[in-house]
Amino acid sequence: MPFSNLGLCDPILQAIKDLGYSSPTPIQKQAIPIILSGEDLVATAQTGTGKTASFVLPILEMLNKDRKLRGKRIRALILTPTRELAVQIEANIAEYGKNLNLRSMAIYGGVDSEPQKQSLIEGVDILVATPGRLLDMAHQRALHFDELEVLVLDEADRMVDMGFVGDIKKIIDRLPAARQNLLFSATMSHDVRDLADDFADGNVGNSLVEISISPKAKTAPSIKQWLITVDKDTKSALLSHLIKEYKWDQALIFIEKKHGAAKLVSQLAKRGIKAESIHGDRSQAMREKILADFKSGDLKYLVATGVAARGIDIGKLSRVVNYDLPFKPEEYIHRVGRTGRAGAKGEAISFVAWGDFKNLCAIESRLNRLIVRKEVEGFPVRKVVPVSILNYVRKSKAPTKKAPKTHKKTSKKITTDSVESPKNKNIWG
Ligand code: AMP
Repeated sequence: MPFSNLGLCDPILQAIKDLGYSSPTPIQKQAIPIILSGEDLVATAQTGTGKTASFVLPILEMLNKDRKLRGKRIRALILTPTRELAVQIEANIAEYGKNLNLRSMAIYGGVDSEPQKQSLIEGVDILVATPGRLLDMAHQRALHFDELEVLVLDEADRMVDMGFVGDIKKIIDRLPAARQNLLFSATMSHDVRDLADDFADGNVGNSLVEISISPKAKTAPSIKQWLITVDKDTKSALLSHLIKEYKWDQALIFIEKKHGAAKLVSQLAKRGIKAESIHGDRSQAMREKILADFKSGDLKYLVATGVAARGIDIGKLSRVVNYDLPFKPEEYIHRVGRTGRAGAKGEAISFVAWGDFKNLCAIESRLNRLIVRKEVEGFPVRKVVPVSILNYVRKSKAPTKKAPKTHKKTSKKITTDSVESPKNKNIWG
């Protein structure tokens, strides 16, 4: 199906063409008509599936039809967990909407709020915001929500993980009841579903449609995943060895803690490898500079904490490294999905130490297969990591499960052919 069948106007189609997009991705095919028909949407989709365009394009189309911008007013609000993601989405809006006369901007914490406040005075058609800064602006009466038409919660699972639920609820309370709601999430936990129920409950008129897109069904097989068991104290030496031995052109290296990120950068430097790190403590300007350098290829190795890396969109990332294995299988899948984008080849390498055994079991159980193990000469392991149990269920404090609410509105579920129950199916073949 070509983009021209989706009901988008010529200026938008031209912008898409200029970007070289030949056809819509599965989520775009499904979500764009639903959004244009005015229905509420809950979509399970990962970064890399083209989800941003799936909500930005129809929002541009709808707002372009009827232009009525007033000062301090916004017409569409996109809430995102991180400033990087906010900046990225706003850049996408600017690209897709370059032939339209709509105003967009991103607001986020960690930078002076005054320029953001000044820009809001004239009114903004599409505002991308992190929850804290948005509430701050609302408290300062820099913007009003009475003309809001569309609300998007992007990466809702991550916003829940980062503790933004309270802020989001406060924001939703301020919005007009007659609005369209769109929620995108890589995973659909109880908390995310509660959030979807919350925003749907207060709303009137629209029906709610649910769609689910399997992560990168087409491009994922080009991602090679492997792991190396390693002792904790030899991880940085192993990383340096791999970078040098295999002449890695690029690597996004995920690490758990921010002080660990800085330490790793200096350990690499001692071995003659120039890397940089991004984490929550770095200034916005510094993060933007490092990201720009990494995207342009001037910087080859970037060490990032999971939270800081959220929302980084790097066109052709050839390699991700889990220097520390993530606790949640969803996070592993999300990280790996950052490589091999748009059909390009990619690899994901995980360092697994003895203490990571349970996390590895959880990840491999979720994938329903064992990840290929490779040994690296010169790095014998003192503490051997056993082979995983594939039906592993993590024993943890039972989550406080609330009884699932029933939607007051009509709720349809649409699932693509390629979507499988992740528990039963090997996600990437
Ligand atoms: P997202 O899932 O929104 O993070 O998008 C992932 C990447 O796919 C971004 O770099 C987009 O520019 C790109 N993209 C989005 N839609 C298309 C499309 N229809 N064809 C090719 N690339 C796309």
